Amino acid sequence: MGFTAAAIFIFVCGLCVGSFLNVVIYRLPNGLPVHKGFSMCPDCEHRLLAPDLVPLLSWIFLRGRCRYCGGRISPRYLVVELLTGLLWLAVWLRQAGSDPELWALGAPPAAFMTVGAHCLIVSALVAVIFIDARHMIIPNALVLVVAAAGILLCFTPAPPDLLERVIGFFAVSGPLLLLAVFSGGRAMGMGDIKLMAAAGLCLGWPAAVTAFMIGALLGSAVSVAAAARAGRKLGGRIPFGPYLAGGIIICLFYGRELVALYLSLF
Ligand SMILES: [Zn+2]
Repeated sequence: MGFTAAAIFIFVCGLCVGSFLNVVIYRLPNGLPVHKGFSMCPDCEHRLLAPDLVPLLSWIFLRGRCRYCGGRISPRYLVVELLTGLLWLAVWLRQAGSDPELWALGAPPAAFMTVGAHCLIVSALVAVIFIDARHMIIPNALVLVVAAAGILLCFTPAPPDLLERVIGFFAVSGPLLLLAVFSGGRAMGMGDIKLMAAAGLCLGWPAAVTAFMIGALLGSAVSVAAAARAGRKLGGRIPFGPYLAGGIIICLFYGRELVALYLSLF
């Protein structure tokens, strides 16, 4: 397979997984089974058929409306699909850059383990972003997917090494757990702590610490800006998961570079 064909293939696979993530984002926080039943319009509950479920294209051709009742379908569906497709493409481009055999999807299976694990991580994090932003929870199932991908990565030659990954598991989650215990659970949710433990396994400790700092910076910047716009004081609980997930995704791609840049400052 040529480079362009392989890139399109990966992007389309990501779109399809994004379409499944829309189901996960809707059903998981509502306690509905993710793998059973058929898709239906949340408004009129009409069963959705194959032509209504083509990633990206269905939403565009139906102009964001239900074919049966005309009810508006949130642009979130489109955003989740597109974001997942682009992240899968980015994962593959990043890995293919260092391994030309991946360009043509002709590399030995071991090389695909790294790509597969990274695709798994970004997919779970997309679901974390949209679920936590709305429901203020990070489902354990998604944390387990990230942790499983981290364990998978321990068996690949991809950097960082095993020791950095194991330390990464505790490096951020340990201090956060102490903080949560001493603040009576107000400073940090358990979901955030578990997510950072799983992410530490994927990133290794230097990049995990960096991911947390980026998440904290993003979260503070957004909440300060939101408070300023609304003209009210800071405070109140904000979901932290989306910012942590953002930091983890950034460090999955540029963790090593960011750590090197940070160290070069001293
Ligand atoms: Zn409908």
